[in-house]
Amino acid sequence: MSDCLFCRMVAGDIPADVVHETDRVFAFRDINPQAPTHVLVIPKEHHATVGALVAADVGLLGEVVAGAQAVALQEGLVTDGGAEPGYRLVTNTGPQAGQSVHHVHFHVLGGRRMEWPPG
Ligand code: AMP
Ligand code: ZN
Repeated sequence: MSDCLFCRMVAGDIPADVVHETDRVFAFRDINPQAPTHVLVIPKEHHATVGALVAADVGLLGEVVAGAQAVALQEGLVTDGGAEPGYRLVTNTGPQAGQSVHHVHFHVLGGRRMEWPPG
């Protein structure tokens, strides 16, 4: 989709600070970081929401989550098989959750203590 920001980043038309990539998954630093580590993990293929992705290709959703874990390992947020210091994986769906880019993405957030429940 040429009018989709993240599709254009996957295509290389808009610059991305890429930290991890496979044949089907793409991960890059958020331009407005909310934590010391803030990376967005997306499927290269366009799906608007996590619901659309589940319906189309649940295996690809698994690859995206595996990509998030790979980023967390690479960034030192967890160790292999461990869960410390830890990270948060967030996906916003729809206006009430604040989804602003309509290409499904998971936020990997870490490097500081995070509140629960979120605001
Ligand atoms: P959401 O509000 O959950 O849809 O998240 C969209 C995210 O995309 C926000 O955290 C933005 O800061 C981020 N974002 C928007 N444009 C860019 C860009 N050009 N490069 C990297 N991240 C971006
Ligand atoms: Zn897209």
